[in-house]
Amino acid sequence: MKKEFVCIVCPNSCRLTVSEQKGEIEVSGHECKRGLEHGLSEYRNPRRMLTSTVAVTGAGLPRLPVISTAEIPKRKLKDCLNELYATAVSAPVTSGDVVVKDICGTGVDMIASRSMNKISRLKKNEEAMR
Ligand code: SF4
Repeated sequence: MKKEFVCIVCPNSCRLTVSEQKGEIEVSGHECKRGLEHGLSEYRNPRRMLTSTVAVTGAGLPRLPVISTAEIPKRKLKDCLNELYATAVSAPVTSGDVVVKDICGTGVDMIASRSMNKISRLKKNEEAMR
């Protein structure tokens, strides 16, 4: 089996070829060790950071941006997004607060990537009228 990837570790964007024969995995096209590791990881278990939003009540905005604390297996990203779509939090929220712990059993937490203050309904109405 043979797969090709573009290394995304640095702006060089080397074209990696990963091939497997009789259980031996070989990477070519990399210019450094980090690229070799990236090629092996992409072939065996590709992972990505996940950024998204969740619903937030009582804040000035309807959605709170969140980010994963580590990379998540690519095959689990859709399940994780579905869990985030079903998640709602209440203001106030502080940047770094855990919004979803161990999302989809990945061992990775989703945290708030910004703070949001609680806003009174009166203040919200005032802002809407501006
Ligand atoms: S292989 Fe090394 S030099 Fe090439 S893109 Fe990846 S990290 Fe950069």
